[in-house]
Amino acid sequence: AAAVRQEEAQVAPLTGSASDQPAPGHAGDIAATLTKLVRDVPDHPRPGVTFKDIMPLLADAQGFAAAVNALAAGHEGIDKVVGIEARGFILAAPVACWLGVGFVPVRKQGKLPGPTYAETYELEYGTATVEVQVDAFGAGDRVLMIDDVLATGGTAAATAALIRRADAEVVSLGVLIELGFLGGRDRLADLDIRPLLRV
Ligand code: AMP
Repeated sequence: AAAVRQEEAQVAPLTGSASDQPAPGHAGDIAATLTKLVRDVPDHPRPGVTFKDIMPLLADAQGFAAAVNALAAGHEGIDKVVGIEARGFILAAPVACWLGVGFVPVRKQGKLPGPTYAETYELEYGTATVEVQVDAFGAGDRVLMIDDVLATGGTAAATAALIRRADAEVVSLGVLIELGFLGGRDRLADLDIRPLLRV
């Protein structure tokens, strides 16, 4: 039954190794899939913000698999995939399995046990702190960061700083959606950023 479902989803099963090529033929479709299955929620979590709600995408077997495949596509030679709490975890973990590499969580302050590196960054109101365990990477590991949405870029910049402090190399940032009008890309000038959809 699982094989049939994979066939219906028109994507390769998530059993590949890093050397396998992702399923071809969906690069153009994925933007349309995201447009259809990511919901705009006006004024969440506060007035004036249009929240990109990925829950309909996650709940759709074909859409979720297509998004994971597209995020993994073209990333040979990666050693670790980092997920950014919390929706980044949902996407990054299957991408890591697909690429045949390990998953590392970057978490909000106080969640990870043992010694951690911490980075604090500015939010519109106040600050936020993210952490990674000091032994999360091997020296020189090549890292793919994954999140659902790139907005102002503060979270991704802090995550990249953590990875570098932990002696690893940030190769790329993969996101479902880049909110281009917020200019996050400008804060990540040294990074290869790969959005599946740019709005
Ligand atoms: P930023 O640090 O501004 O790039 O914000 C990125 C983080 O906040 C990501 O982890 C996103 O999940 C979340 N985020 C920011 N803006 C939105 C939005 N409009 N819709 C959904 N998530 C968002």
